[in-house]
Amino acid sequence: MIIDSKKYGGVCRCGKEHRMATDLCVIEEGALARFDEYLEKAGVTGPRCAVYDTNTYAIPALRRPKAAQEVVLKAEGLHADENSTAELESRLGSDIRVLIAVGTGSIHDTVRYVAAKKGLTFVSVPTAASCDAFCSTVAAMTWHGFKKTLPAKAPALVVADLDVISTAPRFLTLSGIGDMLGKFVALADWKIARAVTGEELCPVIYGIMKDAVDGIWANCRDILKGSVEAYESVTYGLLMSGLAMQLNVTSRPASGAEHHISHFIEVGPQILGTESGALHGEKVGVGTVLASAEYHRLAETEDISGCVIPYRPVPAERFMEVFGPKLCDACIEENANDCLAAVTPEKLAEKWPEIREIIAEIPSSEEIFGCLEDLGAKRTLPDIEVDAGALPVLLDCSPLMRNRLTLMRMRRMLKHS
Ligand SMILES: [Zn+2]
Ligand SMILES: [Zn+2]
Repeated sequence: MIIDSKKYGGVCRCGKEHRMATDLCVIEEGALARFDEYLEKAGVTGPRCAVYDTNTYAIPALRRPKAAQEVVLKAEGLHADENSTAELESRLGSDIRVLIAVGTGSIHDTVRYVAAKKGLTFVSVPTAASCDAFCSTVAAMTWHGFKKTLPAKAPALVVADLDVISTAPRFLTLSGIGDMLGKFVALADWKIARAVTGEELCPVIYGIMKDAVDGIWANCRDILKGSVEAYESVTYGLLMSGLAMQLNVTSRPASGAEHHISHFIEVGPQILGTESGALHGEKVGVGTVLASAEYHRLAETEDISGCVIPYRPVPAERFMEVFGPKLCDACIEENANDCLAAVTPEKLAEKWPEIREIIAEIPSSEEIFGCLEDLGAKRTLPDIEVDAGALPVLLDCSPLMRNRLTLMRMRRMLKHS
């Protein structure tokens, strides 16, 4: 399967002009055997350096792309941080023009950050369908102990070899599926925000993402049988998520309440008192089960006119109590112009029937839980090292991670919610 940016760029029927920074994505068996051909097709030229970690360098099914230089970082304790970027920069030949990331999340974030810093072309070779960040334009870094999203380079070319991806450790693929099932909630949040505030929603981008997640929903259990088509669906969905974010210029098409739950757990807020070592997609999968359950529960109420209360800002003391001194200021700043302030009780009550219809399109939490269970994926809070009793805190506080209108954020305006 080939995803060609020319097909998606240009003036859209939504009236906007979309742009994709990634020229070409190839998802096929044996794709790496034709690596040079695809480089040429994407117009990528110049001396190349391929970056691995010790695990990805040793993958038996991997045909290593030809490169003038190879850098292999130690997999043990590897994080996208100041250490890995400094090591890569110090070892990089001065004539290198193209950086190729061969691996999963940490390698990609390290390489895409260095590519942006040095003005080099970035090429992505994912070795597992593990997360939706391969086509991202930002890097999720840990910088001197703090999690930071830093500007980075989108790949000009992605070469996803299904021979490699279908033999990756199972838990990595399950994490990717968790990340993708989250789109059911993310897309519903997008539609709900449009209904309530008239937020822009491109039907083409929405349709691309909906088709991708529907495809995965239909065949992801076939991963257990080693079906290449199932791996292809997951890989396509994950790459397309990144491309949809490029087209929309924001992460709206791929991230809603479920991602906010995942991010909330990830930053380790004071009120949770724990840090989770679970993968991004594992946390999103659990976040999706929880968000779906809560959305369907809210939708049981047919008429909410009696229980809508006016918007009130979250007091500063609450931010301190939830996030602690380390994260408090940044979270207050993020929520300074609270998008929820634009929602009136009347509007919310008026749009409630439409919101209930949108929620009905999200599979039930039992169905999502059952799917993750069949796959052997993480599906409960304890599975991702979070106390089950943290549920009310997660539902109340996770929307504060990001000033984006979701139904989970609107819950603040629902009495007895
Ligand atoms: Zn559009
Ligand atoms: Zn994600």
